Amino acid sequence: MNLRSIFLSLAQGEDTEKPIVAAITSPLTEELLGLCGFTWSSAHRSREHMVKAALAAKSAIGFETVRVPFDQCVEAEALGVELDFEGYYPKPRRLVEGIGEPDFLGKGRTMMVLDAIRDLRKAVGQDFPILGGVAGPFTLINYLLGPAKTMLLVRRNPSVVRNYADRLSVSLANYAEEMVSAGADAIVIEDMASSPDVLNPTIFRMVEVDPLRRLTSMVDAPCILHICGNTLKILSDIPRTGVKVFHIDPKTNLGVAVDLARGVTLAGGVSTFLLLESSGKSIAEASLSCLNYGIRIVAPACALHPKTPIENVKTMIKAVKKLD
Ligand SMILES: [Zn+2]
Repeated sequence: MNLRSIFLSLAQGEDTEKPIVAAITSPLTEELLGLCGFTWSSAHRSREHMVKAALAAKSAIGFETVRVPFDQCVEAEALGVELDFEGYYPKPRRLVEGIGEPDFLGKGRTMMVLDAIRDLRKAVGQDFPILGGVAGPFTLINYLLGPAKTMLLVRRNPSVVRNYADRLSVSLANYAEEMVSAGADAIVIEDMASSPDVLNPTIFRMVEVDPLRRLTSMVDAPCILHICGNTLKILSDIPRTGVKVFHIDPKTNLGVAVDLARGVTLAGGVSTFLLLESSGKSIAEASLSCLNYGIRIVAPACALHPKTPIENVKTMIKAVKKLD
């Protein structure tokens, strides 16, 4: 079985002989971009550099998936948010007043990301899995209006937020479908604003679960939901979103999670703090403990910290692949 077949089988909940080591969120680090010889900003803004950085995560680190884009602001930018590209990841500099017509396809960097996926398919061939990334509807609202205004709206008028999320879910699905046509095998939905660490689980159920379900139902590929932090309080809601895979943070009790997220494959599991701060034995043990919990798509639990040593990530990969 090639890596693409292994990944797709695991994403559909089937077991395979081998586990896979994936980068589901951003694999970029200072060291990796140093090897590439270009800046963070150009990895986000240049088609050529985006593709090169994605391929470097495969060749220089050893990840068994490639993904683009690396940031979560592509859709917000396409809807009018002005971004600041200083630093590691772009962040909103000027927000929008309201959410009008949410059709962003063809605007901002969206076409560049689709072209990058086409380039990646040519570069990796048919046997290697490619992931495309979009923001979750509620996370996108946060990027468009800012967290303060979004939370005020959530408290005063959750039905307005729900309405925004419903409309954005359709646009996100159309964009994700274009990614699939361009060559993406699966779609990662990054929804960090939905984490119970920052959003009341009752509000998550009210404003985000159905929009996520609409999004996933319109995409002709498996969807992977990424929500950081301790997600225990929303895990039993995840199957209703229609995602095939939940990318989990080990701040959540992994043993309990396997029971709660019934019908959904768990991925991730390796702490990004451990990958940053630790080395050798403890990284290998954490990686193997994911396998013991039944996680077969092992990955860093979130975007790698920019200062993470490549050697530490290689230790994770070697442990899972049982190489030495
Ligand atoms: Zn995260």
